[in-house]
Amino acid sequence: MQRLCVFCGSNGGHDPNYRAAAELVGQRLAERGIELVYGGGNIGLMGAVADACLAAGGTVIGVIPEALMGKEVAGRAVDHRALTRMEVVDSMHTRKARMAELSDGFIALPGGFGTFEEFCEILTWGQLGFHVKPMGLLNVNGFYDPLLHLFDHAVGEGFLRQQNRAMALADSDIDGLLTQMENYRAEPVSKWLKEEKQL
Ligand code: AMP
Repeated sequence: MQRLCVFCGSNGGHDPNYRAAAELVGQRLAERGIELVYGGGNIGLMGAVADACLAAGGTVIGVIPEALMGKEVAGRAVDHRALTRMEVVDSMHTRKARMAELSDGFIALPGGFGTFEEFCEILTWGQLGFHVKPMGLLNVNGFYDPLLHLFDHAVGEGFLRQQNRAMALADSDIDGLLTQMENYRAEPVSKWLKEEKQL
């Protein structure tokens, strides 16, 4: 893995552990010589992971939609000069496609709707066989336990295959998560479960 995409909150969360975990991710990526691809913002956990990666001598590529950049520049900072590279794209959709194209794997740190949507979309592309890259949740403070529970529930209720459920790696520790991601091999299975006829 030469480049990893990190999805994470544009807020920092209440518990300082969240910010500390994001900083450790940025630092570890830099130490391992893995480039960081992220949403380009300088706020919340997004700013924390990017700043820590840069501070540790890492490479950071931001991908930001024009509309969001305007807002951010007018409001709270995005320091374009600090990042190794900032790509400005035309929409949120282009941004996600570009982040996916640039990256060899995806990590979600705690966040809100934006983070959930980005991670679930990349999982969806994985289960459709559009890519075979590893995807992992950094489960800081058990933040993602309810989502992992929901994934298991979807398997139990016949909406998700166990093999596809297994694509969502999770670990509370960044080194553990990176090891799981390095060892990950996608199993190509059909997304669709066989319909059982109701009698
Ligand atoms: P959220 O989890 O709802 O805070 O959204 C975070 C995710 O959505 C990030 O991974 C970004 O890609 C995107 N995002 C949300 N807000 C911003 C922002 N102000 N600047 C840049 N990206 C953002």
